[in-house]
Formats: sequence, structure tokens, C-alpha cells
Amino acid sequence: MGSMLGAKHRMNPPPLYHRQYDHQQQTFDVVIKRSRRKTLAIHVLRTGLVEIRAPLHCAWQQIDDFLDARLDWIVAAIQQLANSPVPEAPAYCDGEYHDYLGEPHELLLVRGKPSQVVVGAGQLLVRCAAPGDPLQVQQCLLKFWRQRALLVLDERLRDCRRRFDQVPAVAALIQRKAALSGESENAVGKLTVRRMTARWGSCSRGGDICLNAALVQKPPVAIDMVIIHELCHLHHFSHSKAFYALMEAAMPGWRDHESLLNQPSWRRQADSL
Ligand SMILES: [Zn+2]
Repeated sequence: MGSMLGAKHRMNPPPLYHRQYDHQQQTFDVVIKRSRRKTLAIHVLRTGLVEIRAPLHCAWQQIDDFLDARLDWIVAAIQQLANSPVPEAPAYCDGEYHDYLGEPHELLLVRGKPSQVVVGAGQLLVRCAAPGDPLQVQQCLLKFWRQRALLVLDERLRDCRRRFDQVPAVAALIQRKAALSGESENAVGKLTVRRMTARWGSCSRGGDICLNAALVQKPPVAIDMVIIHELCHLHHFSHSKAFYALMEAAMPGWRDHESLLNQPSWRRQADSL
């Protein structure tokens, strides 16, 4: 029995493989993670660890070759990360500024129950049991952004949809689709609002739109840009030339608003605006 298990184990390479490299006087650990992906990828983490993500049945030789060809790049990436400052994080303390719809609001923390966040007059009043605990304040705010996002993003989606369908290029597409299918409505599925780390929005083939709750902290024009981007996907599913032509027709100059999304939604002081 034991030998059978041993034989089986030898036939299947372990899913995780770890080894140490030494290149250009830089020592680093490499971890190989296999998953149901199709291509090889390399990630240098801030800790200096190198991760190779590989398809389940990719040959070890192929992984070695992939790694060997990129050793110089890996060392450069490790050094660049080591020299770049760690991005600052909010402290969730009194007087810090957090954006709501692109406008800075000063945090005002008070002790009390039940937890509640009230926004108004350039202030965000956060009431919770332990206002000195940044994690608790953060949790309150995350819950608040989500609640607000559900209302605000739904309203903006309706508004954008109305304007979008009136854009001549869009109206023509809708008409053509209606002539083909006999349906007069270009259905938008349901809206989901979620906290996401890597994207602002997404659109499924069925027309369901998912928006990042953190959008509620961004200026309305940036929110609309994300929504109109997803509405364009109802007509062109991939980021093709036709997709960008439609995007430009629906929101001329939209690229000017793109940078608003990448700016931090908080700051320590009002005067650093
Ligand atoms: Zn897209």
C-alpha cells in the first residue's frame, strides 16, 4: 500500500516548488505555483519573493528556461522595488481627509453605539464603539461606502443609460439590433456593487454590470466614465477599435478623466490638496 502511494506521488510533481537563486550577487527565493492557467507568468513581490505561475502540466524544463531567460529582469525588479517607497496607508484618525464623490471630507470620530457614519458639510462623522481603533473606523467607512455606492451608482447608471442611448452612434446600433432580433430594448442586466481590488467595473455577456463600491469616492465624471465604458461593452464585448470609437462618441475626451481614478481618495491634511 505504502509503495503504491509512493509511486503515485513520484508521477505527479508537487503543486508547489520552492528553490533559491543567486544571480548578479542577488539571492532570492523562487516559488512555482501551478494552476489552471494557460501561460507562464512571473511576479516579483514586494517582499523580494519571486513567484512563477505555471499551467498545471507545464514541463519543468520549460519553466526553467522561462526563468533563466528572465534572471536579469528579476534582479532589476527586486532592486527597483527595494528602492521605491512603500505606498502610504490612511491612519483613519481624526482630521484625516477622505473623499466622497471626489470632494474631501474631514473625519470626525466619536464614541457611541450603534455604529453609524453621517456625511455632510465637508465632514464624515463616524460613530463607533472604539473610535481609536483604525480597523474599526475603516470597517465602518467601508460599510458606509458600500451603502452609498448602492444608491449613487444605481442612480448614475440610470442617468448614463438615458444619455448613452441618445448618442446617435448608439441609437443606430440599437436600431440595427432591433431590426435583427425584433427586440426593441437593449437589455441591461442587473447591477452589482462590490468592493474590488483590481478593477473599477465589469460587464458580463448577459449584460450584468458590476461596479466597484470605491467609485463612490471618485468625482461624478470619473464614475460616469467607468459606467459608460461598461455600457459600451453591451455593444462591443472586447476592447476593439469599434469599442473605443463608441466610447469616444459617447463621452468625448474621456481619457482626460481616467487619471482621476488612480489618485488616492484620502489625504492627511487639507492643505496638501
Ligand atoms: Zn472594458
